[in-house]
Amino acid sequence: MVDPGHGGDDGGAKGTKGLKEKAAALEIGRAVAAKLQAAGFEPLFTREDDTFIPLWDRAKAANAQGADLFISLHLNAARAKAARGSEVYFLSLGQGDDDEVAATENAGAGAAPGAEDSVVASILDDLAQKAFLQDSERLAVAIQGQLNRLAGIKERGVKQAPFVVLRGAAMPAVLVEVAFISNPKEEEKLKDAAFRAKVADAITLGVRRYFAQANGGVRRRMVGGPSLGRP
Ligand SMILES: [Zn+2]
Repeated sequence: MVDPGHGGDDGGAKGTKGLKEKAAALEIGRAVAAKLQAAGFEPLFTREDDTFIPLWDRAKAANAQGADLFISLHLNAARAKAARGSEVYFLSLGQGDDDEVAATENAGAGAAPGAEDSVVASILDDLAQKAFLQDSERLAVAIQGQLNRLAGIKERGVKQAPFVVLRGAAMPAVLVEVAFISNPKEEEKLKDAAFRAKVADAITLGVRRYFAQANGGVRRRMVGGPSLGRP
């Protein structure tokens, strides 16, 4: 499941030259889906146009369609204009490595569905991803490695943070901050289809590495919901 971040009224972060995160994320999502398809995968989308999909509904759609992986695509923003490169996150159930990034990305989440059941719903959602954290970390490491090679960056590692969009995913799930839209050079690159294709190649290679490590098997431990009955 390819999940281009934001959309509609939620523009996400904005570059100094006006590029909106929601637009860049959608273009990257299209490129990633094309490369995944070419590699023999069957990409699905949470959104294919400029529509806002509530964060809680994105993982739900992935669960309903039996997606094997969930990949949320975003652009990073930092006060330091020089910040550059990619960061791949997987879910942290408590405090994370970069809660500020998570808070920014969670801003459009809204309240959890079902006001009265929200505490229960939130616990169930946490459990859904909890069973997949190890696989999510492996997926994050595989993708981060490829994106670091692309950017020529060695030191950036995988991080953990409490992203709402990942919580309900009953499958390995990562959030990719593809580049810094706040960095004018990276903002310029993001407008270039050739750069987006390279990013998509890197993410696809990461996905292939992930499955190769898993001996080609999809490790789905549950279908359609949290594994409350699992021993
Ligand atoms: Zn975002």
